[in-house]
Amino acid sequence: MGSIGDQLQWIDAQRDRMVGLVAAWSRINTYTHNLPGIQRLAADVAAAFKPLGGECRRIDLSPYRQVDDAGRIVEQHVAPAISILIRPDAPRRILLSIHLDTVYPPAAGDPDEHHIEALDKSRLRGPGVTDAKGGLAVMLIALEALERSGLADNLGLHILLNTDEEIASPASGDLLMRAARECDLGLIYEPTLEDGSFVAARKGSGNFTLTVHGRSAHAGRDFAHGRNAAAALGRIITQLAGLTDIPAGITVNIGQLLGGGPVNVVPDLALCRFNVRYLEPKQQSQITTAMRQIMNDANHHGITTALHGSFAAPPKPITPAYQHMLDALADCGAELDIPVSFRDTGGVCDGNRLAAAGLVNLDTLGPRGGAIHSDDEYLECDSLTERARLSALLMMRLATGSLQFPDV
Ligand SMILES: [Zn+2]
Repeated sequence: MGSIGDQLQWIDAQRDRMVGLVAAWSRINTYTHNLPGIQRLAADVAAAFKPLGGECRRIDLSPYRQVDDAGRIVEQHVAPAISILIRPDAPRRILLSIHLDTVYPPAAGDPDEHHIEALDKSRLRGPGVTDAKGGLAVMLIALEALERSGLADNLGLHILLNTDEEIASPASGDLLMRAARECDLGLIYEPTLEDGSFVAARKGSGNFTLTVHGRSAHAGRDFAHGRNAAAALGRIITQLAGLTDIPAGITVNIGQLLGGGPVNVVPDLALCRFNVRYLEPKQQSQITTAMRQIMNDANHHGITTALHGSFAAPPKPITPAYQHMLDALADCGAELDIPVSFRDTGGVCDGNRLAAAGLVNLDTLGPRGGAIHSDDEYLECDSLTERARLSALLMMRLATGSLQFPDV
């Protein structure tokens, strides 16, 4: 036990240990669909978090539904999430979350292991070092400092580590939203932006698959009998892409087109996958109505369309309660001499989902780094202790009551 200052000093002494944890965790391939890899990491992470105490559980997630490339709805499994409850009966509760999965498919030669290398004394390079194995380490050390401080008796903690965030949390979204409703504040350990800025407002996002069914026929002998699904899709995607309105903050990105085959066959199936982003919550119904209209207009003369997907990450605007926490983070930064600046982004994360469930949350408390989701992903090692100090101070201020929880 010791003063807040003692704990912040203690964090500084954890730098090498944190770099070691990040390197060890990042070596394990945890591609979202590599379930054994994620389970290996989950076991290592559960062991590392064990000294914090509390009840640690594996939570099986229901499979999610997806449209495959042949237009069929199939179920996909993800690895169980990890939930650790510490003092769940405390009057105030914080939800701390970050994902265990990464975007990197296993390599052909060595499917389970990634190569992690130190670029120099201050940078580590490798898949997932910043997004989000570094965030895991920041969360762990900040929590250790909080527990060491002896200040946390009235603070409940729910640590929730999900396994499908990189594919938009289709299986863990409900779990996150249930946990959000039982807590007073959310802290998420996604990395900051590349310039070190924290994210303030986030756009909303939805992922969709549109299938178009027509009728197959021989292109030469019986063309008029056919109903060309690929041609119909071509007309539809022009209209969908036309919903983009840059000044209004709405974008429709057609990401993938599939369908058709031999050129002498009228194709009976075509599909496209697309992403919609938008700024204001009210734009969601406006976009939904426009998409439905486009589908309805296409449904004639033997063409039928179906739309799968949802707006699973609503926008995260700046509310007064959220501004209170952004200010609190800036105050902690000022106290610790850590620059804190904010930027809005079109990127989404689980912070969008928590906000949609009514939980105010700071969602970029992880380390600084860059080139995430690429072969050059790197971590600024000094940011590990820096960000852990920031988080620990914020939580200790909440624990002592010198900082108020956001009251929505
Ligand atoms: Zn991430």
